[in-house]
Amino acid sequence: MAETKEYQKMKDIYGSLVFDQKEMKQRLPQDVFENLVGAMEGRQKLDSGIADTVALAMKDWAVSKGADHWAHWFHPLTELTAEKHTAFLTADENGNPLNSFRGKDLMQSEPDASSFPSGGTRSTFEARGYSAWDPTSPAFIIRSRKGGTLCIPSVFIAYDGSPLDLKTFLLRSMQAVESRAMKMLKLFGNRGVRYVHATVGGEQEFFLLDRPRAQKRPDIRFCGRTLVGSPPPRDQKMEDHYFGAIPTRVLSYMEDVQRDLARLGVDLATRHNENARCQFEFAPQFTEANLACDQNQLIMETMRKMARQHELRLLFHEKPFHEMNGSGKHINFSLEDSEGRNLLKPSTNHRKNVIFLSFLSAFILGAAKHFGLLQASISTPGNMYRLGGHEAPPYIISVYLGDAVAGMLRAIEEGGGGDGMKQTKGTLDLGLPKLPDIVAFDSDRNRTSPLAFTGNKFEFRAPGASQAMAVPVMSLLSVWAAGLEEFLTLFEEHINGGEDPVEAAIKTIRRVSEINRDIRFEGDAYTGGWHAEAERRGLVKAHTIPEGIDLFMEPSTLQMLEELGVFSKKEMEAFHTIKMESFVKNIEIEMSVLRDMVWEGILPAISKQLILERDSFAIADGFGLPGTESWKRIIVKLAEAKISLIEKTRELAALREKMAAMPTRAHADEIVNSAVPLMKEIRKTADSIEIFLSGENMPYPNYRNLLSLS
Ligand code: ADP
Ligand code: MG
Repeated sequence: MAETKEYQKMKDIYGSLVFDQKEMKQRLPQDVFENLVGAMEGRQKLDSGIADTVALAMKDWAVSKGADHWAHWFHPLTELTAEKHTAFLTADENGNPLNSFRGKDLMQSEPDASSFPSGGTRSTFEARGYSAWDPTSPAFIIRSRKGGTLCIPSVFIAYDGSPLDLKTFLLRSMQAVESRAMKMLKLFGNRGVRYVHATVGGEQEFFLLDRPRAQKRPDIRFCGRTLVGSPPPRDQKMEDHYFGAIPTRVLSYMEDVQRDLARLGVDLATRHNENARCQFEFAPQFTEANLACDQNQLIMETMRKMARQHELRLLFHEKPFHEMNGSGKHINFSLEDSEGRNLLKPSTNHRKNVIFLSFLSAFILGAAKHFGLLQASISTPGNMYRLGGHEAPPYIISVYLGDAVAGMLRAIEEGGGGDGMKQTKGTLDLGLPKLPDIVAFDSDRNRTSPLAFTGNKFEFRAPGASQAMAVPVMSLLSVWAAGLEEFLTLFEEHINGGEDPVEAAIKTIRRVSEINRDIRFEGDAYTGGWHAEAERRGLVKAHTIPEGIDLFMEPSTLQMLEELGVFSKKEMEAFHTIKMESFVKNIEIEMSVLRDMVWEGILPAISKQLILERDSFAIADGFGLPGTESWKRIIVKLAEAKISLIEKTRELAALREKMAAMPTRAHADEIVNSAVPLMKEIRKTADSIEIFLSGENMPYPNYRNLLSLS
């Protein structure tokens, strides 16, 4: 089939706003280019002597693309992105034009750190920080109406060296897992491998609403989710939406998003409808871990901007609608070596398959020991409402492997000691010729697991749609690095004892399989039975989000992260504080918005409806008709609801005041134990009378209105 013009155009613009290797090669002297590529692949440090040359080339390129400003682009601990724009051309003290972008500007910049949270590191140390270019992620241009900004992906660090951003931790975790993976490959005798990279692909779920309608609701405006309202009963099952035709309006939005992102080198490979009404998903082509995290930030930013242009309201919240599916961000991840081999790909070749099982077992081993960190990494306010309900995985970490892979591990486990090895090999060889197909086939069977092996990668399904990927990815890679470390120790013992690497690996896999057993669960994780079983297995360390955030500070986790060089204790304390504060602030906003919506909209609406009912009832009553009792009951119900809402919102306001005086950790518990249940009661009462309000007395667009894009 001939390529359409559109497709051709897409190919032409792909990556046109990225300063990629092709541009670099064209614009830089050979030796400078080689040094830079080395730095980009993480093989060597960037030589500061070449910075001026690179900066000049970068600026020329950016200006040729219409850019007039530059900025260091980074992710402060708030999980948003930040940038401070500086014009390329400024004036010196005499008013002469001055080029403001030199090598030193490329390498380092000094944004004012005082407005970014530091979780207490700032109060004890120097208040300012600096951002520094991370050459492993390429520079790109964000276009504005009249010009554009050259964005330089950066880390953001306080003067005492403690990171004020997420990327630094992420890069450290990549380093931790990649170096150990290299060691593993070397032990297997793969000497030609130059590097191993962690690969990540994040599937992004979201809701799209008609903007003018959505913005009439303060809860959507300020919280990104509905605090009152419920789906009309007949709308609960709308399964035809999934994989159905994408509404035209949404399709044109998606095309615009895809085109802008293509320019930035982000390939959104698939787009489709999700389970709920007005819910959709984008899945990008996977790439190196830190680039994937940067790209996810770009995807979210581009989507936000474009939504406004299309008069749409975009929701990344984990649970925008009551009793409907929430939005997650499924993080797919694996390791890839410099030859492009996926290390989690099962193979029909025995040796390669054992290498695969070694990497797999090492990850499960890390997860078995440090699942607390994985749970901590997804403990966010939005996930409090999402996990454990409506097609979302439970708030318990377990690993699902699927029959084929679980079967291989079982075969190894049952293979007995050293002389059982032959038999083990025999068992293993049996199913091999068709293996990869089978694995891909049965890996998709279980959608209930938070962490599943899906054919040639793991998929972490618990992260929430609004989260920055850096935190869960950092956790996954750290866990894997820790698992590899332990695996390698056992593996080396066998190898040093003179064993062949494949045999040594099989023995190691067998040993760690025992340790791994509890974290592995192949059943339906939605059932209540699993909860009880998980408790018995010791997998439930945290029941609430604040308890989950506390798992960042679990001594064994801290020790692991310190040993890997990912987080120091002091850095984690600061990080933990920020997470807890952000949880509290997030729900506090919901409390005050809910109170306002009840008093500004719902209570007056009930009064208006009561007057309407009273007047009309008086007329009808005069006719002496039978059956007026049921009408009266509605009137009484409205009045009762009004009284109850007044009382409960007063209680909510008093609770807020009481909590304001509490220290953050106690405050967080009080939110879980008192505020959230109270907000639920208020919602229930408000929702119970929604059907009795006339269209014109309806204070806010209801679910039926909101969830229609025509
Ligand atoms: P599914 O829809 O069954 O979950 P897909 O093949 O559509 O699987 O992939 C989903 C996501 O996983 C995509 O973003 C894809 O790029 C990513 N992905 C695929 N292979 C890998 C890999 N080896 N490492 C990291 N991510 C991957
Ligand atoms: Mg998936």
